[in-house]
Amino acid sequence: TEALASRDPELFGSITAELGRQRHEIELIASENIVSRAVMEAQGSVMTNKYAEGYPGKRYYGGCQFVDVAENLAIERACKLFGCSFANVQPNSGSQANQGVFQALIQPGDTILGMSLDAGGHLTHGAAPNQSGKWFKSVQYGVRKQDSELDYAQVEALAKEHNPKLIIAGGSAIPRVIDFKKMREIADSVGAYLLVDMAHFAGLVAAGLYPSPFPYAHVATTTTHKTLRGPRGGMILTNDETIAKKVNSAIFPGIQGGPLMHVIAAKAVAFGEALRPEFKDYQAQVVKNAQALADQLMKGGLDIVTGGTDTHLMLVDLRPKGVKGNATEKALGRAHITCNKNGIPFDPEKPTVTSGVRLGTPAGTTRGFGEAEFRLIADWIVEVVDGLAAHGEDGNGEVEAAVRAKVEALCEKFPLYPNL
Ligand code: PLP
Repeated sequence: TEALASRDPELFGSITAELGRQRHEIELIASENIVSRAVMEAQGSVMTNKYAEGYPGKRYYGGCQFVDVAENLAIERACKLFGCSFANVQPNSGSQANQGVFQALIQPGDTILGMSLDAGGHLTHGAAPNQSGKWFKSVQYGVRKQDSELDYAQVEALAKEHNPKLIIAGGSAIPRVIDFKKMREIADSVGAYLLVDMAHFAGLVAAGLYPSPFPYAHVATTTTHKTLRGPRGGMILTNDETIAKKVNSAIFPGIQGGPLMHVIAAKAVAFGEALRPEFKDYQAQVVKNAQALADQLMKGGLDIVTGGTDTHLMLVDLRPKGVKGNATEKALGRAHITCNKNGIPFDPEKPTVTSGVRLGTPAGTTRGFGEAEFRLIADWIVEVVDGLAAHGEDGNGEVEAAVRAKVEALCEKFPLYPNL
């Protein structure tokens, strides 16, 4: 038959196992979410067959009349969602969205100023091993020692000293709201473009729970699969027509060929979902849940970087318990709580070890967890961490098994994709 299960049982087995993992584990990775059946349906559609180099109405292939409808819907909905006049929905990922902006606005050898990886920035913001760190002269800012908040004074001083062409605001582990107005003032003072990479908090922006990058950003990039709850992919937004034209040429033919039309169709579906009133309620719950999780973890004796969160994520400083990020990630994994180790600001440990874990609430909230569930989850995390502290690297098997049983019981109460 044509069905995947019989056509390719080996591969089908991996998908079934992954569905089982998602169903039976609590997902706390801050950059992940759980898309709707409708999003998956669009992404698994015949649009994967179509070549559509170019843009709606201006393609280099025939037969694009229907994929044009999908891409136009994605563009219109993105513009409505973020209050801007231009969207390029073709970037295959958040990294390619950032590369597209670089290609559009700067030249190899130019100076860029972004947040360093260890302070919460992203690889594509000028980290040494990334193309952004190799092809540009990368200068990096961080957070303040006293409160781990973004160091605007340092951004300003570095901008004055190095005269960057582009300044990047945003990152992957920033729990607090960024002052875009201040970042734009600094950019203007040295004649730099301001790029806001809102990959992590785009869903909160769409719901009006986090300040919009506009009007301060010259250009904004995002992923579509984190808080925004769409398919894996990227997007570039702006209100500036000249920048828009440059961005379009930079994505195609600059760095990409045929766009992933099935993913663009799924982006359109997700943006349509994000325009509904329920999405606001969802995002409000994401933030409330994050605050409950952070509060309960602190009650259990853990530190939270900056003392809490304004967003969907938090950085847990494990040092009060004397355990490391890598061992904690593994121990929580054994208890079916999934997260990632993460350096904390000024972390004395190597990036492969770390003193922290990053936790986020978008996926659990989609599943239906509220504050009560997240307080329980916090207690279970503390139990596992205490087990680790008392028993060393291999953890306390008994505690981990007991927590795993409680995790599975909770997951049963909030079924995932019940009809799949
Ligand atoms: N920008 C930020 C702030 C991110 O957190 C990420 C994802 O980790 C990216 C860009 C890159 O997105 P992708 O993984 O889709 O390339």
